[in-house]
Amino acid sequence: MDKPTLCLLVVAMAAPCITGAKLVKGQQSVPRPTMTTEGLISDKLWPGGVVPFVFSKAYSREDQARQLVLKAMAGFENSTCIRFVPRTTEKDFVIINSGIMKSCSAYIGNQHLGSQQILLNPASCFPNGNIGVAQHQLMHTLGFGHEQSRSDRDQFVDINWSNVAQANDSFPLSTEDTTFGEPYDFDSIMHAGMFENAIDKSIWTVRPKEKYRDKVIGQSIQLSGTDIRKINKMYKCPGHALPVPVTTADTKPDLLRKTRNSA
Ligand SMILES: [Zn+2]
Repeated sequence: MDKPTLCLLVVAMAAPCITGAKLVKGQQSVPRPTMTTEGLISDKLWPGGVVPFVFSKAYSREDQARQLVLKAMAGFENSTCIRFVPRTTEKDFVIINSGIMKSCSAYIGNQHLGSQQILLNPASCFPNGNIGVAQHQLMHTLGFGHEQSRSDRDQFVDINWSNVAQANDSFPLSTEDTTFGEPYDFDSIMHAGMFENAIDKSIWTVRPKEKYRDKVIGQSIQLSGTDIRKINKMYKCPGHALPVPVTTADTKPDLLRKTRNSA
């Protein structure tokens, strides 16, 4: 049977979207989502940009993590029309759960499962108190895949295939153009870091091409300007001014790399 698409990020080794992965036992018999790894086909959008959510019972004991999740959600609400609302009677909603094995993961888009989980392990998904990993997963939930899977990524980054673990799953290349007219975004919170899914964690797996070597990838601090524009375009957010792109020249490479690329 077809199964939902899951994006998984384990701190220090971010894995890619996994089609057919089981997130929760008993959720296998659902339609395969019709989406690319960059953006989402409209049937997986959250109606009106409203994402109902609940915290799991396990999360009720994690006050600090709960506050960080809410802060991550607010980051979307401040710049887009997306609204995360406590679930009341909505059929489709997300459950924020702590998960196991330090996992940080989410399905891509509204899977129409009824409930679908976002795993944000409190011990590992908020490195240094940052909310970027949580926002990465929430952006998956909104319907976005990884930036380095854009169909035009080979113009911007090199992949060191010999050092990539699980090559077929790590850097899938989209065949559809769902870039929303936005340029390749090295600064996206959805872009892998240089040591993503590496066999030898001291050697890069993905890096900007020579002419873009000054760019920093793998930031895990906040949504980029382009991330925000894409969300506003995907959800046709009315009245939301599209922000000016944030250049990587303003970022802090050491801090950024430390958060997602500890290898
Ligand atoms: Zn991801």
